[in-house]
Amino acid sequence: MDFTLSKEQRDIVRAARKFANGEFPDRALEFDREEKFDLDLWRKACELGFVGVFIDPAYSGAGMGFLEHSLITEEFWAVDPGIGQAILSTTFGSEALLLYGTEDQKQLVLPKLVAGEAIISTAITESDAGSDVTSVRTTAVKDGDEWLINGSKMFNTNGTIATWILMLCTTDPENPSRHERHSFILIPTNVPGFKAKKILGKTGIRASDTADISLKNVRVPLDHIVGKQGEGFHELMAFFNRTRLHICAQAVGLARGALDEAVRHTKERRQFGAPLASFQVTQFKIAEMATLIRAARNLYYEAAWLVDHGKLDHALIAMAKWFSAEIAVRCADEAVQMHGGYGYIDEYKVNRLYRAAKVLEIYEGTKEMEKTIISRAILG
Ligand SMILES: Cc1cc2nc3c(=O)[nH]c(=O)nc-3n(C[C@H](O)[C@H](O)[C@H](O)COP(=O)(O)OP(=O)(O)OC[C@H]3O[C@@H](n4cnc5c(N)ncnc54)[C@H](O)[C@@H]3O)c2cc1C
Repeated sequence: MDFTLSKEQRDIVRAARKFANGEFPDRALEFDREEKFDLDLWRKACELGFVGVFIDPAYSGAGMGFLEHSLITEEFWAVDPGIGQAILSTTFGSEALLLYGTEDQKQLVLPKLVAGEAIISTAITESDAGSDVTSVRTTAVKDGDEWLINGSKMFNTNGTIATWILMLCTTDPENPSRHERHSFILIPTNVPGFKAKKILGKTGIRASDTADISLKNVRVPLDHIVGKQGEGFHELMAFFNRTRLHICAQAVGLARGALDEAVRHTKERRQFGAPLASFQVTQFKIAEMATLIRAARNLYYEAAWLVDHGKLDHALIAMAKWFSAEIAVRCADEAVQMHGGYGYIDEYKVNRLYRAAKVLEIYEGTKEMEKTIISRAILG
C-alpha cells in the first residue's frame, strides 16, 4: 500500500498551509472572543479554490476526492479550528446533493457554494432527537404542490447565514419502520416562517455560526425533496459516511497544531536551568502525540481513499472518527499541560485548540455512537 501523496496533493497541502498561516493567526483571537467571523475570508478561500474541491467539475468544483478536501481541512484546523470550520463547513450538505440531488438541484446549489456566493447547512438534530435521529419530529406534509413544514432544529452549523438548509423531516409518520419515516427537504432560508437564532457561549470553534431554527408553516415546492421519500434515514447514514471523514481531518489537524505548539514552547521555555524539551517526561509526551497523530492520519487516509475509490467501509470510517477525535482531545490536553499556566489563557493558541477539541467527540455522531457502529460490524 502506498501512502505517499502525489505532487498535486502535496501542492494542495502547501497552498492550504500558506493561506491558513498567512490569514488566520492575526484574526483568530478576535473571532474567538467576539464569537464572530468575517465572511470575506471565506470568499477569499473560495476564490483560491479551497472550498468544495470534491464537487464535480460539472458543478464548478475541482472534481477531486474527499481525501483532497481532508488535506485542506487538516491544514486549516492546524492553524485555527474556528476559522477552519467557518470556511469549510459552508458546503455541509453538498455531499448529500451529490449523492441524491436531481440535476436541477445540483445546478441550483453547487456552483454557488464553490464560487463563495451561497452557503448550505444540514439540519438533523432537534431538542429530543440527537443521537437517535429516527426521533426527528419536524414534519413536512404535502399540501397541493408544496411541502408544508413545521418544527424546530437545534445546534445548526451556519443556521443564521446559510442560503439553503437541507433538513431531515418526518414525511411518513405512519410507516411501521422508524427507519422509513423521514426525507430530506431543501429549504431556502428566505421563505416566510423560517427563523434562526444564533447560539452564543460555545466552548470552542466560536468563529463558526451555530443556531437554533424554528419553522412555522414554511412552504417549499414538492420538487425540493432531495432523494427518495421515506429514505432519509438511510441517505443520512450514507451522507455521514462522507462527512465524518471531514471530522477526522479536523481532529488530526487540531492535534498536529497542538503538537507544533508544544514543540515550540518546550524548546523555548526553561525551568530548572534547562529547556522543558530536555526533560524525558516532555520528550515522551511529544513522542506519544506524534505517534497518535500518525496513526489517526493513516486510519482516515485509508477510509477516505476507499470512499474515493468506491469501496466505502463504514466501520473503518467510524473507527477513524472516534480515534482521531479522541487523540485530538488528548493531544490538546497535553499541549496545554506543557504550557502550564500560559495554556490556560485564551491568548495562547493551545487554549483555543483545547476548547475546540471536545466538539469532535460530539458532533456528527458521538464517540459512543461510533463505537456502536464498530461493535455492530464485528458482533453483528
Ligand atoms: C458546535 C456544534 C455544531 C453542530 N452542528 C450541527 C449541524 O450542523 N446539524 C445538526 O443536525 N446537528 C449539529 N450538531 C448537533 C450534534 O450532532 C449533536 O449534539 C450530537 O449528535 C449529539 O446529540 P445530543 O446533543 O442530543 O446528545 P444525546 O444524543 O442526548 O447524547 C448525550 C450523551 O448520551 C450518549 N448516548 C446517547 N444514546 C446512547 C446510547 N444508545 N448508548 C450509549 N450512549 C448513548 C451520547 O453518546 C452522549 O454522550 C452540532 C453540535 C454542536 C455542539
